[in-house]
Formats: sequence, structure tokens, C-alpha cells
Amino acid sequence: MNRKNKRRPGAPAADLSGLPVAKNEEYIADIVGLGHDGEGVGRVNGFTLFIQGALPGEKVRAKVLKVKKQYGYGKLLEIIEASPDRIDAPCPIYKQCGGCQLQHLSYDAQLRWKRQLVIDNLERIGKLRVAGAGAESGMRAGAEAAGVGAGRGDAEAAGIVVHPTLGMSDPWRYRNKAQVPIGLAVGEEGGLIGGFYAQGSHRIIDMEACLIQHENNDAVVAAVKRIASELGIRPYNEETGKGLLRHVIARYGFNTGEIMVVLVTNGRDIPRRDELVGLIREAIPDVRSICQNVNRQQTNVIFGDETRVLWGSEVIYDTIGDIRFAISARSFYQVNPVQTEVLYRKALDYAGLSGEEIVIDAYCGIGTISLFLAQKAREVYGVEIIPEAIEDAKRNALVNKIRNVRFEVGGAEVVIPEWKRQGIAPDVIVVDPPRKGCDAALLETILAMRPERVVYVSCNPSTLARDLRVLEDGGYRTVEVQPVDMFPHTVHVESVALLVRDGTEG
Ligand code: SAH
Repeated sequence: MNRKNKRRPGAPAADLSGLPVAKNEEYIADIVGLGHDGEGVGRVNGFTLFIQGALPGEKVRAKVLKVKKQYGYGKLLEIIEASPDRIDAPCPIYKQCGGCQLQHLSYDAQLRWKRQLVIDNLERIGKLRVAGAGAESGMRAGAEAAGVGAGRGDAEAAGIVVHPTLGMSDPWRYRNKAQVPIGLAVGEEGGLIGGFYAQGSHRIIDMEACLIQHENNDAVVAAVKRIASELGIRPYNEETGKGLLRHVIARYGFNTGEIMVVLVTNGRDIPRRDELVGLIREAIPDVRSICQNVNRQQTNVIFGDETRVLWGSEVIYDTIGDIRFAISARSFYQVNPVQTEVLYRKALDYAGLSGEEIVIDAYCGIGTISLFLAQKAREVYGVEIIPEAIEDAKRNALVNKIRNVRFEVGGAEVVIPEWKRQGIAPDVIVVDPPRKGCDAALLETILAMRPERVVYVSCNPSTLARDLRVLEDGGYRTVEVQPVDMFPHTVHVESVALLVRDGTEG
């Protein structure tokens, strides 16, 4: 979030006198919106107070923790009037964990809020007109609700259609990957714990079950913790840099049942390694791959550079639609396989392919979207910056006998201009960038290549809105946007947008 506003050294302290709230005092706040981190956006005598845990439509009592010139932060003390959308968070460790932010909001309201967040970003950052953009009742996202920034609120009929968020029929236990830090149990003889970092710290709290994680991953992590404890394997200690086992990663192929276990260790040697592997195989009969990743750096980056197979295969497989994907220890693979299929089908639908098109898939990862598109296109070109992912992508093309794809390693903003020089003229460009959005040079190249359609898959509505503005200014029109809920109970919002070149039919 961009509310840090750090004071420059030497700059005078802001004058906070005369504000309607003061630090450590208690106030009654009306909650008028939900910010992009899931915090309630409250109003106290016209002043904005962000209050974690409060929901739109509520009246709450809060204590002011921090005050800045234009807004402050408050701690929720009491809910005086509760929102009809408020529910009891099902997870017993919801408040300590921080992995989910919206469990106290009904799932239906979460979906409405995610759509509204997309609309707010398109209007406020993209200065784009959204069709029928009346706010979902009480679901205005933070800055809009707080009156920060300039919403357009145009009443004109035309504009981008933002569809209702596509949610899950069962929004629990959806994750196919768990990454669990390992630590030492306090007061126990060598016992290992593993779970999550307490909010705002690096203290590990043990966890047995995570309600958004597939049960098999919970079982794998529990088994590895138990077995490693029994064998006397020492957990890594972040402060001293000593100890061996840093993280356990469990991956589960929802559609194949295959399981991968990755042990991230602070060094190559694992004492009693064969016993460890034997016991893991015994405890987890569906395990297909047990890998070790060595990370000796004193860092909070999970993986090191060296990965080796301790037992079984180097990859596990999963399927999305009719396509089979090999997934290796470090490759990016969407964590919600059920919704991934929904997302990719929408991207394919927006690409509007007839079988004759040349398509570019920028930021292609292991080629998931590329291979989906290749079934309906003449030729697909995928580009991705991580070499291992491109190796996986090539293998995935072979495994699926898909021959009309070409993958290249490199920055999309470097490789695609090169393709342009080679005379490659795409009809459709699909982009699926990381949170920071597309590189400006890539957007420029897209405009120069003039494809009929651009399909933009985004995990961050604010950079989506920024990039759509650039494409609109360059002669494209955003037709529709479909939010897809890939991460229920968290504040993450995924969406896919269709743009057409001006003058072509939408
Ligand atoms: N489309 C894929 C991956 C999307 S995640 C899927 O759905 O699975 C975004 C991907 O962009 C990551 O794999 C990341 O490694 C890659 N990436 C990041 N910066 C890049 C750049 N400048 N050029 C190309 N790829 C990049």
C-alpha cells in the first residue's frame, strides 16, 4: 500500500494539532469502505481512520494508534453495529496468521468487493469509464470511500463492462502448494514445529491445519515434521544461521493425485537421509518426487540455487483441461487449479481464436496459457524470463504433442521487440505479468505491433489500470474485464481484460 509517506530527514514534522482525532484516544467510527489490504475505512468527524477487522456499514469503537495529516490507523475495540455481511471466521488461527484477510466477510460479499476494487482502480488510476459503475452497496474500496484521488463517476451509458467476480462453489482447501517454515519447538527436546510467521515478526507458530490448503498438503507437512523430529534433524535457526531444515514444500496435483515434497536445507548433507526418504515414502504412499533444495544464504528467500532429487521423479504432473503439465520444484504453477481453468478458459475466449492466428504469450511461465491457446491458433510464441520455466514449457509442449509453439527465454520487453524485427506479426497478444505490471517498453512494442486483440491477465488491478490507460491512449479500447477469484479469503484479486484495436469489432 502506498500510504507510507516517509518523512525526509530534516523535513519539519507534520503539524498534527487541530486534527479531529488524537493518538491513544477512543472514537466511534462509521466504516464506509474496505481498503485493499482488507482493512475497514472509517470516518471520524470527516477524518479517515483505517481499522483492521472492521467492515463497511459498521459502527465501531476504535482506539487511535497512529495519526498522519490525512489519515490514521485505529485498533478495533468494539463493534457497535455489525454488518449483515459479517461472519465468524471459520479458522481458529485467523487473527494470528495473516495469510487470509477476509474470512470475517461472507464469501458473497468478498466477491462483490473484489469486483468493486477492480472498478475503482479502472476509474481512479486508469481514468477509464466503467459501464453502470454504481458502487456495490457498501463495497466501495478504500481510497474511493475515503475521498482520496479522483473518481470520475461518469453517468454515461457506454464503458467497460466489469462482470461479477467468478467465485468458487466451495472456496476452501483450494491451494495445491504449501510452503512451511520450520523451527524449534519451545521447551521440547528437539521437536520441530512448522506453520507460519506470527504477524509482523519471524517467530514461527506451529500449525496443523490450514483451511485454504488441500488436506493432503497438511498431511505431508505433518508427516515430515514428525519424521524429521524422530530422526533428530535440527531445524534451521534464522538468527544464528545454524541448523538444517528450513522449509518444507508440499505440492499436490489435484487432477492426478501426485505429490511432491521439497526439503529446503541449509547445506547438502542430511543425516540419516535414506531413513528419512524411506519413512516419508511409507507415510505418504502417493509421493512421486522427494527433492532437496540447498539454501545456505542467511536470507528469507525460500529457495537456493541447487535442487536435487532424493527419490523418485524430478517433476510431478497435473492437468488443466486436456493438457498435462510437468511441474518441477521451483516452477511457478498457479496455486488454485480449479479457478486456473476458469481463468484460462476466459483468456482463451477473449483471444477469439479461429485456428488461423499468430499469438504471443508474454510472461508465459511454464507455458500453461500458451499451450491452451495453441490448440486454437496457428502458431504461439511464448516468452518468459526464468530459464527453468522455459525448459518446463518446452517439455510440456512435447508431452502434449503440441508442435505449433515456440518458447524463448528472456525479458518480454527485450524478446518481443526482437520478434518484431524478425517480422513476426501477431493477431493476438496475451500478457500475464507479475504484480508490477507490464514493462513500458513492452507496451510500446504492443502498440507498434498493432495486434487486433490484447488479452491482459492481471494479479494486480492497480497496474492493470495503469497499463490499460497506456494501451487506450495508443489506440485500443477495453471492452470487458472479468474478475476471477483465485484466492478466496485473501485480498488478492485476479482479472482478465479484453482490449480490441480501435476500428475493429469488439
Ligand atoms: N502465465 C503463467 C505465469 C504468470 S506469472 C501462468 O499462468 O502460469 C508471471 C511470470 O512472468 C512469471 O513466470 C515470471 O517469472 C515472469 N516474468 C517476470 N518478469 C518478466 C519479464 N520481464 N519478462 C518475461 N517474463 C517475466
